[in-house]
Amino acid sequence: MTNELVKIIKNDDGDILPNVEQEWCLVDANPSLDVARVLCTQAVLDIDTNAEWEEKSVARGGITCDKCITIIKAYKAVKL
Ligand SMILES: [Zn+2]
Repeated sequence: MTNELVKIIKNDDGDILPNVEQEWCLVDANPSLDVARVLCTQAVLDIDTNAEWEEKSVARGGITCDKCITIIKAYKAVKL
């Protein structure tokens, strides 16, 4: 399993995000989603959106978005 990451360059309104807001987010790994979404914003990653993004897969780490990291830590704290 690899980390599928995405960096939003333009949002769905077609606005280019400032450099400081262009961070690497996790593609939501929820298997019940019908479309790929950014974990922290739930922004849809499909051809119908005006958004533009970069993608990469890494073996571990790579996430620079604080909101995504906070969400992942919260899930990891769940005891199964
Ligand atoms: Zn994020």
